[in-house]
Amino acid sequence: MADSVAAKNKCLDLAALLGKAKVPKAEPTRLSSSYKDQSTISGIINEGKRLGLDVKIVGMKDEHNMDLNRVMTTAVYYRENFPELNTSGVIITDASGMSQNSKTVAKSVRYPDGTNVIMVSAPKLKDRAELKRIMMKSASPNPDTGISWHPPGCNTIQSVIDHEMGHELEKAYRLLADGSDVKKILEENIHNGMQVSFKISDYAATNYPDEAIPELWSKYRNSPDPRPLAEAVGEAIMKRAKGSRGSI
Ligand SMILES: [Zn+2]
Repeated sequence: MADSVAAKNKCLDLAALLGKAKVPKAEPTRLSSSYKDQSTISGIINEGKRLGLDVKIVGMKDEHNMDLNRVMTTAVYYRENFPELNTSGVIITDASGMSQNSKTVAKSVRYPDGTNVIMVSAPKLKDRAELKRIMMKSASPNPDTGISWHPPGCNTIQSVIDHEMGHELEKAYRLLADGSDVKKILEENIHNGMQVSFKISDYAATNYPDEAIPELWSKYRNSPDPRPLAEAVGEAIMKRAKGSRGSI
């Protein structure tokens, strides 16, 4: 009897958990069904053109094997949802585009004319095993603290791009300025360094508040269960973006 009650309670817990779980907000792929050729640079450039993206290839021969769907559709997502960022395309670069010995898999580049592009490292994307190793490590809980370096769910190239674009959102909408809704939410929820680690990530605690919004934005976009703080910040950013469009 006690066992069946315990089992029932477990089911209820699970149902509550499933009911609460959010559908990840990463965009569905919108590349054309005819887009099968990711093995040539010309195939990538052509598909970029179809999506209205400026695609640049740096220092690579006409032979590679990467899954660039997610990178390109993410650039389209930011261009369409956050016009203030002026995201115009992607750069797929060899190692020369990233700082030396870097583990960087993606970064955001802003040109003097105000346009923004998402840069990804071809060597990291090509070496799937290395990419997986870097990403899994960064989002796996520390056995001593239960806290992971990056938030749970943030273990994909998409999550890295979202983090980098989180910095762009913070600057474009001045999210850390006094009086901003996002800053108010952080002030209400974070009172010490331990709370930064516990409620955001250990990485956010290395440079708070600068790394807080990118980590929370990436968590909001990629975690199946972002938790209240990331939900609140993510929703406030979406509202802020809509508000600024409404006022134009
Ligand atoms: Zn960052």
